[in-house]
Amino acid sequence: MGECPIEDADLAKSFPDYAQKVICVLEDAGYEAWAVGGWVRDALRGVEGHDVDVTTSASWQQSACALRAAGMAVHETGVAHGTVTAVCDGNAVEVTTYRVEGAYTDHRHPDEVRFVQDVKEDLARRDLTINAMAWHPQRGLLDPFGGRSDLARRVIRAVGDPLVRFGEDALRVLRAVRFSVRLGFAIDPRTQDALVSCAPLLGLVAQERIGQELDAIVRSGKAGTALLEQPQVMCQALPELAACYGFDQRSIYHVYDVYEHIAHVCNACQAFTAGLARPELQWAALLHDVGKPVTFSQDVEGHGHFFRHPQEGARMARKTLRRLSIPANVTDAAVCLIRLHDERMSATPRAMRKLLSTLSHECPGRETALAFELFNLRRADAVSKTASAASWAGELDQYAELLRKELQTGPVFGVRQLKVSGKDVMSACGMRPGPGVGMQLDMLLAAVMADELPNTREAQIAWLRGAEV
Ligand code: ATP
Ligand code: MG
Repeated sequence: MGECPIEDADLAKSFPDYAQKVICVLEDAGYEAWAVGGWVRDALRGVEGHDVDVTTSASWQQSACALRAAGMAVHETGVAHGTVTAVCDGNAVEVTTYRVEGAYTDHRHPDEVRFVQDVKEDLARRDLTINAMAWHPQRGLLDPFGGRSDLARRVIRAVGDPLVRFGEDALRVLRAVRFSVRLGFAIDPRTQDALVSCAPLLGLVAQERIGQELDAIVRSGKAGTALLEQPQVMCQALPELAACYGFDQRSIYHVYDVYEHIAHVCNACQAFTAGLARPELQWAALLHDVGKPVTFSQDVEGHGHFFRHPQEGARMARKTLRRLSIPANVTDAAVCLIRLHDERMSATPRAMRKLLSTLSHECPGRETALAFELFNLRRADAVSKTASAASWAGELDQYAELLRKELQTGPVFGVRQLKVSGKDVMSACGMRPGPGVGMQLDMLLAAVMADELPNTREAQIAWLRGAEV
């Protein structure tokens, strides 16, 4: 156990004033308080900007009282676990009482949370050594489990016996993978062995908690790395992937099995977006082929086919994302990308308008961004098959170019972009309000989208007058 109560000038410089105030208020009131967890870890890595969490000997009622007396707003955000959130100069700081957790008999929730007086006991209940450090502006770093040296060695290691710690709360298995892939750290061998043996316990963890960690992995852009490096853990966290693992595609277009292909598509999406792929694209990449195992068939020559796997995959992905409590806007967009990832398209302006129209129906207002995301998904899909299939990626560049051109001209892909309204339909055709008006507009839209009619008011009024009602 190496304690390191040394003043660290760099940490002191980057410690935000508002967090300093919170600690001062608590200590002036006679309690002990430290910055803890993610801020300490990231500040020691030289990465600023993580929110500051504070751990204290004060009970939540004592913290709330002292902080309110100092003029801060205090919200009772998690008092059952000893947490309040103070707002200081517009910044939220979570303040939590030193605590330890009782036994986890169900592997999901601690049977009890017990508040304690020693900060080291609080650090000992934390998951990984790099997350189990506390820092104080005067007292310096408190690092009883060697987190700082693990950061320097770039190693993920559980606090204490990894088998016991992962057994208590199996979510830590997924958290270890998340920090490993996000930071690019290796996993200590004992911790790695425990990850694999405790991975099946993930089945007992609440889906919403798994969803939060998976979402964090996906958003870090490292889902592909997680799949390749930790298949046992990822297949337990997301059983839909277990069916893809080792699934031979029996196809001349694929060098990888379904699982490996998915991992490569995740990586390629990141590469094609310079690491800035949005969450819906990353989730779509991760789930785009989950419909393959159930749609597999073989022809007489033994070649594998996956007819309608995008539709089946979209259906499965919606269920999965709902189960994991992923926000509806991300889910809708990801499902739409999955459904369209293998759709036949032609390189024509008309096909681009049709695509915008489809996307705007499912995700109104997001059609342009989603169209480019779809091209990135398809490009990533193409380069993750065989070398010969990679040439399809060129076609995607053509689509993107066409779409860009089309966008410059203000494309028509919905009735809102037409130059006439329902009112015009009624006066030009002598119609009363009702569903017929919408049908006329839809027919007019189809004519404009098919380039049979220009998007001018005169032409559209003339078309309406001439239309048979
Ligand atoms: P991030 O930047 O991802 O938010 P973080 O370190 O703040 O990183 P959180 O998930 O917000 O991570 O958790 C805050 C701290 O609480 C962690 O640093 C860790 O010390 C502790 N912690 C969180 N979840 C667990 C858990 N399941 N078991 C043990 N300790 C945990
Ligand atoms: Mg955090």
